Amino acid sequence: MSVVLVTGASSGIGAAIAIAFAENGWDVMAAGRDEGRLEEVADVSERIVTWAGELASSEDCEELVADTIDEFGEIDCLVNNAGIIIRGNAADTSDDDWRATMTVNLDVPFFLSRAALPYVLRAEGSIVNIASDWGLRGGERAVAYCASKGGLVLLTKAMARDHAREGLRVNAICPGDVDTPMLAAEAEAAGMDIDDYMEEASESVPNGRVAEPEEVAALALFLASDAATHINGTTVAIDGGGGA
Ligand code: NAP
Repeated sequence: MSVVLVTGASSGIGAAIAIAFAENGWDVMAAGRDEGRLEEVADVSERIVTWAGELASSEDCEELVADTIDEFGEIDCLVNNAGIIIRGNAADTSDDDWRATMTVNLDVPFFLSRAALPYVLRAEGSIVNIASDWGLRGGERAVAYCASKGGLVLLTKAMARDHAREGLRVNAICPGDVDTPMLAAEAEAAGMDIDDYMEEASESVPNGRVAEPEEVAALALFLASDAATHINGTTVAIDGGGGA
């Protein structure tokens, strides 16, 4: 039995990751906030167990890890996927927007990685962090988001170096635009029709389209698998040729 803990599993990429792992024989702890959408994900496979709650403090993260151990007895892979974006350049990003972004996108992955460390080490397993192409090359009007995702990329590399000889692997996925509710919210925030927004986003990608969440999930599954045992401390862009 292999066990994966996935955050942000109630929506978009996280839901696709939870389902992909379950369909490939993993037992899944699917964490999110929206209980209704979590249940829809759990309906896909009886291997998926849900955990609903806000993740912000180290205590929240320790509770989620403890509940996962109570449920399954082990954690072979942690997927730090939950994330938010609050748009703003340096002039118009408030203290609250900065802190909220850092909390979800960087504090929580660190707190969860630390809490899960004894278990993923025992399993000689892995951690997969869902960062962003904007964590590699930056983006417009998203200073907090870019800084948080850049931090997540280097948390990945630092932890990989520290724990490689103990058998743990830590990798990051850096997607470009992916067709999820986050992208729909971006369209709404920009005051754009979703179809126009998707067309514009697709045109900016060399491959001519945005990614599907299932494509990111397939990469996460590969990075967690035994086929990837020599892949460690790396960032894999999935951006249709965007060059991140
Ligand atoms: P999404 O559809 O908006 O889903 C975000 C998930 O994070 C939801 O499950 C949400 O839970 C959860 N979440 C947010 N804040 C939380 C908190 N405080 N505590 C617990 N859970 C929280 O986003 P997505 O597009 O799938 O994005 C997933 C990851 O991919 C994010 O880290 C994002 O930055 C990254 N990414 C996305 C894109 C893209 O174009 N979509 C591109 C690059 C990177 P509830 O819905 O239950 O509230």
